[in-house]
Amino acid sequence: MKHVESYQGFEQGPIRPPSEAESLLIRITRNCPWNRCTFCPVYKGETFSRRPLEHVLRDIDTVQACVEQVLADREGRSPGVAAGACADRQALHAAYSFVAGGMRSIFLQDGNSLIIKPAELIRILERLRQAFPRVERITSYARSQTIARIHDRDLARMAAAGLNRIHIGMESGADQVLELVHKGVDKATQVLAGQKIKRAGMELSEYYIPGLGGRALSRENALESADALNQINPDYIRLRTLALPREAPLTRQYRAGEFDKMGEVETAAELLLFLRSLEGITSRVKSDHVLNLFTEVDGELPADQEAMIQPVERFLALAPEEQLLFAIGRRTHCLSRVADLDDPLLRGRAAQVCTELGATVANMDQVLDGIMERFI
Ligand code: SF4
Repeated sequence: MKHVESYQGFEQGPIRPPSEAESLLIRITRNCPWNRCTFCPVYKGETFSRRPLEHVLRDIDTVQACVEQVLADREGRSPGVAAGACADRQALHAAYSFVAGGMRSIFLQDGNSLIIKPAELIRILERLRQAFPRVERITSYARSQTIARIHDRDLARMAAAGLNRIHIGMESGADQVLELVHKGVDKATQVLAGQKIKRAGMELSEYYIPGLGGRALSRENALESADALNQINPDYIRLRTLALPREAPLTRQYRAGEFDKMGEVETAAELLLFLRSLEGITSRVKSDHVLNLFTEVDGELPADQEAMIQPVERFLALAPEEQLLFAIGRRTHCLSRVADLDDPLLRGRAAQVCTELGATVANMDQVLDGIMERFI
């Protein structure tokens, strides 16, 4: 007999992109239906499931009631939330953050929302639009493999129902790298999926991971990723420099000597090759994650390409002792840009931290790995 899942209250999943920090999170699936990427620790050990449509619609109704209660409370129109109608604490918490963020955007969780039936997704979108008519953006993560299988007509219907931004973890455009990390998709499918999203009229964010191919595939990772993105012309290219979280299978491979991870300097060289290889597109490049060494790599193509390249070139041309100072200074928040090396006060702080950590040119990447573990 088929198990019928009972409603357990408003749910939220573990992650969202940094750009969705102020969004209302609506969980429509749990975990990731693929879950085999070796660099990704997020859903490992968890089983994928689709939440029943009625449960998601109930979540939307619940959070809508909580938002109304929070707004009424703020405007002094009710005795207060504690005495109000919304007893679901998780939904109430989500409503508070949503209202505080201006109620402009909604993010559909978890890892690949477009895997549910298009008709169901459209019902969810319609209910969200009814509940929150002033929301400007509804966004989701999606896998290229899934998007490639969806008919263009259905994607256009989703866009018309309000889904207007998709985040795709392309990670790499190099087939060898994609295979190495078990991404479960090839370059051609990544390009096709990206182009389909753009054709449907949705805004597209694509993620690239400098360093994902290790030392051996660094050049391919840079060139093939840039080539894939040149064919897609996404609205956003977001950088996520490779990090090795404890729970990721790739970390085990690294410790077993099976993955040749690059250090900061070689990863910067890969990033430079990538940036130089972007051409003929109008994407905005964002370095919106603490894992990235260069906050300055942020601008619109083609106008800002040279300005984004310049700090990376400057870093690569520095003496090893200066590279050490910048990398440690940046990772410990003493410095935020390469140009901060020109400020004696900021340099002094970075040098002091290097001394405290015992960081030298020889052990720089080891020390940095230890610092980065705290961020991931
Ligand atoms: S598809 Fe995305 S969420 Fe799923 S394992 Fe890969 S990186 Fe993680």
